[in-house]
Amino acid sequence: MAATDSPARTSDAITGFESTFADELTPLTVEWRGADVPHPRLLVVNEKLAASLGLDVEALRSDDGIAILGGAAVPADGRAVATAYSGHQFGGYAPLLGDGRALLLGELIDVEGHRVDLQLKGSGPTPFSRGGDGFAVVGPMLREYLVSEAMYALGVPTTRSLSVVATGRGIHRNGVEPGAVLARVAASHLRVGTFEFAARNGDVLQPLADYAIARHYPELAELPPTGGGNRYAKFLEGVVERQAALVARWMLVGFVHGVMNTDNTTISGETIDYGPCAFIDAFDPAAVFSSIDQGGRYAFGNQPAVLKWNLARFAETLLRLISPAPDDAIAIATATLSTFDAVYEQHLNEGLSAKLGLADTFVDHELIDDLLALMAEHRADWTGTFRALADELRGRPAPLDILLPRDASDPWVARWREALARHGRDDASTADAMDLVNPLYIPRNHLVDDALRAAHEGDLGPFEELLDVVTHPFERRVDRVKYTAPASEEFNSSFQTFCGT
Ligand code: AMP
Ligand code: MG
Repeated sequence: MAATDSPARTSDAITGFESTFADELTPLTVEWRGADVPHPRLLVVNEKLAASLGLDVEALRSDDGIAILGGAAVPADGRAVATAYSGHQFGGYAPLLGDGRALLLGELIDVEGHRVDLQLKGSGPTPFSRGGDGFAVVGPMLREYLVSEAMYALGVPTTRSLSVVATGRGIHRNGVEPGAVLARVAASHLRVGTFEFAARNGDVLQPLADYAIARHYPELAELPPTGGGNRYAKFLEGVVERQAALVARWMLVGFVHGVMNTDNTTISGETIDYGPCAFIDAFDPAAVFSSIDQGGRYAFGNQPAVLKWNLARFAETLLRLISPAPDDAIAIATATLSTFDAVYEQHLNEGLSAKLGLADTFVDHELIDDLLALMAEHRADWTGTFRALADELRGRPAPLDILLPRDASDPWVARWREALARHGRDDASTADAMDLVNPLYIPRNHLVDDALRAAHEGDLGPFEELLDVVTHPFERRVDRVKYTAPASEEFNSSFQTFCGT
């Protein structure tokens, strides 16, 4: 596709860009730039993240900085591009998706020496926009900012958010909504969908795989390209391992991604694209919040199985690199995919053991399964229960009493305390260790809703307060009690999230 030919405004408020992706994988990119921004206003900027990228926050806050963050100017030393990808959406193949409303400004090297992408979301139409307008609106961009930063603070691998700029452009959604641009930082924007596109278009697949290996699995780069144990077979193993670990982390914090299409599954192992995502309050494997997920394909408890399906689509793209003999390639890929369940279970069970204060000791499957069954039966609050169990060890039974009836919880608690005693764990230090892995504050759906509603009315105060709380998820603060309470069942039974808005 031809690049845009009108001259771009440039800014040097952010410098130091590299563009290895655009340089090495040019066929997957179109040089592009953002739409004009009528009235830019910086709504939020992530000072800590900026510092970790070696960026000058004052420069980001300047008119020239806001021009880059809002998409009105491209970095003087960068090479802004929209990238091509495909994807399986709800199981059906879409041959050309791509950055329909995003712009990859380039790569920065953070203070630890890691290469990261800086991408704008909502910066205007591109050759990949199809029927869409290329824009985004304030609410969902603040939502991605808040939830991605909360996930980071929870220790879940994720893209991060650098800023949200309101553009002053009216965007037609349900009525006219205020436009916004999110600046997002990611280990990369390589997706399973990028490989699906490359496998079916031209001869960029092997360069793409080598690029992804060099960037995310450098320890494999020296392996031979062909033969047993070649770098592509190991690459598949690496992605399976990282994604299995990631989905286990989602399950441990009660996160429902909502739209686990293959274009939203990264090669780096980071969570990406916070569209219709949500957190469960009550433990319920069938929980679905997305308005468009009518079959419950992406329900909370389905996420590991869906991820395995997505990884099978990824494996298909690598077959011809894994071996020129199709039967061999399929046998190797199938064997690798079949490790997914065990890898996932191990991450999940280790995480659950840690949540129960049993880290470094053993995984007691029955103990864990029985607790989950109890929680599901009584719709106990996922986040609250693990903090209440720590309080139980401190001799404070009240929090658990609110969540589970005593006649149901007592026998389980007795077994759990026996397991702790058997492993020589004393109550006080176990409770403290549990509080370090069990968050007190998550971005509960009703809290996010309230904060975004206030932001929509021009008051960013509740958003800033919620952001502060959920980015310190383990620290109890006496004046923040309301942030620990689940929504009413009534709220959650009708709560819906929306995609692509
Ligand atoms: P997402 O649901 O954000 O993962 O997006 C799926 C696909 O739809 C991607 O190719 C996006 O670029 C595209 N898309 C989503 N919203 C818009 C929009 N407002 N305008 C153009 N493309 C969009
Ligand atoms: Mg996406």
